[in-house]
Amino acid sequence: MQIINLLSDTGTKPTPEMLKAMMAAEVGDDVFREDPTVNALEEKCAALVGHEAALFCPSGTMTNQIALKVHTRPLDEVICDEMSHIYQYEVGGYAYNSGIGVNLIRTENGILNADLVQAAVKPRFDWLPKSSLVVVENTCNKGGGSTYTLDTIKGIREVCKSNGLALHLDGARLFNALVESGDHPADFGAQVDSISICLSKGLGAPVGSVLTGNRNFIAEARRVRKVMGGGMRQAGYLAAAGIYALDHHVERLKVDHAHARKLATALGQLAYTANIRPVQTNIVIFDLVKPAVPPHFLEYLKSNGVSASAFGPQTIRFVTHLDVSAEMINRAIEILKTYSAAGNKSQP
Ligand SMILES: *Cc1c(COP(=O)(O)O)cnc(C)c1O
Repeated sequence: MQIINLLSDTGTKPTPEMLKAMMAAEVGDDVFREDPTVNALEEKCAALVGHEAALFCPSGTMTNQIALKVHTRPLDEVICDEMSHIYQYEVGGYAYNSGIGVNLIRTENGILNADLVQAAVKPRFDWLPKSSLVVVENTCNKGGGSTYTLDTIKGIREVCKSNGLALHLDGARLFNALVESGDHPADFGAQVDSISICLSKGLGAPVGSVLTGNRNFIAEARRVRKVMGGGMRQAGYLAAAGIYALDHHVERLKVDHAHARKLATALGQLAYTANIRPVQTNIVIFDLVKPAVPPHFLEYLKSNGVSASAFGPQTIRFVTHLDVSAEMINRAIEILKTYSAAGNKSQP
């Protein structure tokens, strides 16, 4: 049975064309900056977002953690949404790697605005953590793939400027946001000090993320990457996948978004679903109506070849990506229609 993977857009495998590009890559030792393909990827990403420099890293957790480290000093704090990846899913690395705290803002969908950030900035007293960095996440994973408008980012930028704060964009899925809004990556680049971009999500590369920023920032980031053990050698084979992804897999993200909307529409017609979050990109988050519960529902999907994950006690997440075809979406919808919580003997 061919598995329909709605679990995550991290699970994509290289296409035959991407593999060909990887195998043809010219490589060298990137710790000595002698890998021409890594250098090409970094130059390409920097140019794309209008920043001076970029750094190829093994993961988006590493690019975010490096950004936190370079933008802050111990005893500082980072202002971010309570849903943000740096808070939820990076093992508390902000404290471990950088000795900083978090100042969490609660929102409906993980999208901050200027007023919320301004209200969170702490005054400068000896006994308070020092607010020094704001992190915005576009799209916001836990927020259901929610997106920022450029105007909202501009407003946050103004608050950062007037309070002397740096601004980092966790753009793990930045291109999902951009293909919907029609903005250019450099429009966002101009408003932030650094961006983390995942090549290994919807863009379809097997491994890798890129951090962008100004020359000094990236020079320091390179040192932090090394101490974290992220200095890779002939990494050009991986960078080639990233270059291929940026050249061929950006526009097609719209297809994933259409698939996500189609899933959401179908879910809306089923009696056992509720509170389907607005679908802005490639993530669908919804609640199950009891007696339906995630373990039973997910087990049923799994037995029919569909993988997905729980995102809370009554909540399910579906993610679409380039390894989920239109035909697979139709099949998944047919399977969803046949689910009944009645078979769940463990529930009253
Ligand atoms: C996936 C993701 C990351 C990075 O995750 P890695 O698995 O470490 O590459 C960072 N931020 C967001 C919002 C993500 O979804």
